[in-house]
Amino acid sequence: MKNRKTFVTAVATAMMLTMLAPQAMAQSVQGAPTTAAKVDTKVSADNYLKQSAGQYGFKTDLSDLKHVSTIKTEFGSYVRYQQQVDGADVFYHQVTVTLDNQGTPVLVVSDYVPNLTGVKGKKPKLNENDAEGKALGHNKVKNTKELVSRVFGYYVEGNSAVPAYKVTAVDADSLTTWETFVDAETGNVLKNKDLNQKVDGTGKVFLPNPIQSAGTKTGFADNNDADSTALTNQLKTVTLRGLDGSGNLVGQYVKTVQKKATSYSATNTFNYTRSSDHFENVMVYYHIDELQRYIQSIGFTNVNNRQITVNVNGTTADNSFYSPSTKQLTFGTGGVDDAEDAGIIAHEYGHSIQDNQVPGFGNTLEGGAMGEGFGDYLGAIWEDKLAPGTYGKACIGEWDSTSYSTSNPPCLRRLDKNKVMPGSWYGEVHADGEIWSQGEYDMAQLLGVDNATKLILQSHFSLTPNSGFNAGAKAIKTADQLLNGGANASAITSIWAARGISTN
Ligand SMILES: [Zn+2]
Repeated sequence: MKNRKTFVTAVATAMMLTMLAPQAMAQSVQGAPTTAAKVDTKVSADNYLKQSAGQYGFKTDLSDLKHVSTIKTEFGSYVRYQQQVDGADVFYHQVTVTLDNQGTPVLVVSDYVPNLTGVKGKKPKLNENDAEGKALGHNKVKNTKELVSRVFGYYVEGNSAVPAYKVTAVDADSLTTWETFVDAETGNVLKNKDLNQKVDGTGKVFLPNPIQSAGTKTGFADNNDADSTALTNQLKTVTLRGLDGSGNLVGQYVKTVQKKATSYSATNTFNYTRSSDHFENVMVYYHIDELQRYIQSIGFTNVNNRQITVNVNGTTADNSFYSPSTKQLTFGTGGVDDAEDAGIIAHEYGHSIQDNQVPGFGNTLEGGAMGEGFGDYLGAIWEDKLAPGTYGKACIGEWDSTSYSTSNPPCLRRLDKNKVMPGSWYGEVHADGEIWSQGEYDMAQLLGVDNATKLILQSHFSLTPNSGFNAGAKAIKTADQLLNGGANASAITSIWAARGISTN
């Protein structure tokens, strides 16, 4: 796949460059001389290219076309050439000759760019190590997983051949395979792309959970993970983006590793109902992938931008957790399976975001409450985004909590209880998290969800492992200063003052 894509690009470039010679690039050979059956295919292809040199702009001696391969199949032969300048490859510019079984050329396909010149005998300013450093720096790669390849050659830009290095490296953190062309003279990055094959799949999920999307809790019950018409009716078909093409629910930002059920589909189609153990894999893949894309869409490419390993149905407890040591997420099956509720998925992903931004964060009770509060904030805004109605507003985990909450809607926790410091302080991180989550959620109501989320994520970078409420609120105000010139300073001050938290 990757090669084909690049090939098309190369052809397009070559077509642009050969407008002076307006012949079709892929042209059937007319009136080629009939050759004997035993003729050498390479010789036959060479002869034909020499004859048609004028048409394609080749040199008459083919001195800058290096023979790459001759492939014989049942129905014909294929001779491939690589364009060169001063003995080095012109990246991605090739020519093929197709010959029938009599050895007669029947088709030429060419990316050849005529009249390219190089810098013969001149030593490039950058060496391989310099080029590798430029490429890795450009892509912010800290550690490489696989040996980096550095190849010197020529990169076609306009109608000149720019001496360049092609650096290929796999980022150990994101597993992205970067191919970067670095100008061997200036060190500038000429072209950069992610080579990994990405495919879209489809699947069925709750958006965000059956109760919030239905707008009622009536008629919904866990019933020991059984299907029901009411629950199945709340399934929505979605696109699963960034899959790696293996047929597994593994992609750019999420890797599902459930022991009970490894989800596989040759067509990347993952339609399950909630009674299936595969259903939770689809839920975590979709919601975490989309959350990460959302974070990137509001401007952050460095917030948990990695492939996270997720183990759904990994414990029978009615609990889920993020492990700061393994950096993985685990969801439990007690009550409603936790991964059937996008509010719970987003909450747990919130913990991994915070650990990614501030390793060791939450070392104090207030910090722990901020961690839970941010998770609830992320869960609540994610649920609101997916089901914008009023039912379930300021409430997280409507579906998950049906097994332990009698309120309407049922809620794991709420973000509008008006808890304040110091009076509501309880000394337990989840309960006290409601102080923090309400401040953040109120910001979203007043400033808009995207603006509030931007400020909150930006503020995390300022925090330390022992930060508490005051430092957190100050950091949010500082983020507003950096992002908006302090436009929301007074709104932020009063929102946090209402929670008994100073921004000074
Ligand atoms: Zn939590």
